Amino acid sequence: MDFRITEEQERLRQRCLDLAADFATRSDAHDRDASHPVENYDRLRAEGFLALTIARSFGGLGFDFLSHTLAYEALGQGCPATALAFNMHASVVMPLMQSPEVTPEAKQYVADLVVRRGKMIGGNFSEPGTTSLMGERPLTVRARPVEGGYSITGRKMFASMLEATDYVLVMAYPEDATSPTAGMLLLVPRGAPGRSVNANWDTLGMRATRSDSLVLDDCRVPDSAVLYRSDDTRPFRLAFLNWFWGSYTAVYLGLAVAAYDEIRRVVKHRQPQGYAQPLACHPDVRRHIATMSASLEAARFCTYHSAWLSDTQGATPETTAALYRAKYLVGEAVSSITRTALTLGGAHGIFKGSRLEQLFRDGALAEIQPPPADFCLWNVGIYELGLDPADLMPPLRGL
Ligand SMILES: Cc1cc2nc3c(=O)[nH]c(=O)nc-3n(C[C@H](O)[C@H](O)[C@H](O)COP(=O)(O)OP(=O)(O)OC[C@H]3O[C@@H](n4cnc5c(N)ncnc54)[C@H](O)[C@@H]3O)c2cc1C
Repeated sequence: MDFRITEEQERLRQRCLDLAADFATRSDAHDRDASHPVENYDRLRAEGFLALTIARSFGGLGFDFLSHTLAYEALGQGCPATALAFNMHASVVMPLMQSPEVTPEAKQYVADLVVRRGKMIGGNFSEPGTTSLMGERPLTVRARPVEGGYSITGRKMFASMLEATDYVLVMAYPEDATSPTAGMLLLVPRGAPGRSVNANWDTLGMRATRSDSLVLDDCRVPDSAVLYRSDDTRPFRLAFLNWFWGSYTAVYLGLAVAAYDEIRRVVKHRQPQGYAQPLACHPDVRRHIATMSASLEAARFCTYHSAWLSDTQGATPETTAALYRAKYLVGEAVSSITRTALTLGGAHGIFKGSRLEQLFRDGALAEIQPPPADFCLWNVGIYELGLDPADLMPPLRGL
């Protein structure tokens, strides 16, 4: 293993830390109101982040996946919800830009939208019945061919920053397909006829991602809206696991860093009445800080390593296992660090508006965020034991 953070990556990280410091000033207000952090999106847009990882040949800035990871770890330290939702753009745009299954014309179309016209794109693959318990996800949203385009009907769910983006990339089942694993990706503009939003995202954490439900009722889009279609979407999903799922890991890593930094600040400043030293000098507090630092560093290095493998090897089984391992470790680190930080902060830290309280709630989603912790372990176990998934019993009896 030989990876270094280059000077260019260090400069990118510093820029993101500066942005994060600004985003942090509005984070609790957006969390309280569950509002779209549009000023943050506008700043990211103005600073070129929509095209951060798009290849230079398409006019983008050409940063690799490790750079993206460093950037989103830094952004996640300011307002985790901003970083998580904004990452949806790269998470769906990059597979389109890099997949050999997407035509050069479709890639150019996306590059024109994003690089030249500064359009922000969200992604909505999930539906109310979506689960990672099954190897594949049956789609209920249907795309029916009509004169000059498609009519899309059905209900999607969990679409981050849905009302703030210019487009949402929707995964639908082509009505004329026969294979159960078929799917297509269609670009639906915000004002498309037949498109509406059920604003039901009133959640425990990551409230400002506003991951609302998308309702499509005979929603009409032109043929040019179809950016990808396959009778078997599984290879596409697997080849771009780094973007579809791995890119969110860095955001949660940043959240763990934020909680760790905040509790260190608190214990260094809080001097209990009647004592000559701050809480930081208490041996139990020092021990807790030490265990937090160990789990944070382990999670950080596994995350960087998985990103480096992704850049250097592509989607090999080793990379895929490393991405799952990193997500699992980051989920564990976030859960233990935010919990311990809340405990060390005491009752002073549980009020609304407290950074520790917000990070605790946002952090509660780390192990739930796909790929969920058990799903990561399921996949790492199969890889480590060299098993063929086809030989394994399903975890639950099927219908
Ligand atoms: C903050 C946030 C933002 C999101 N944004 C978007 C978005 O913008 N676009 C989008 O399309 N989707 C988005 N999603 C949705 C997400 O991608 C999933 O589709 C959704 O979380 C699936 O629902 P679930 O977690 O209830 O389902 P499940 O995967 O069924 O999870 C239910 C339970 O099963 C467990 N489980 C799952 N698989 C296994 C396994 N193999 N072994 C053991 N246990 C397992 C889980 O740990 C969990 O306990 C977002 C989700 C979150 C939390």
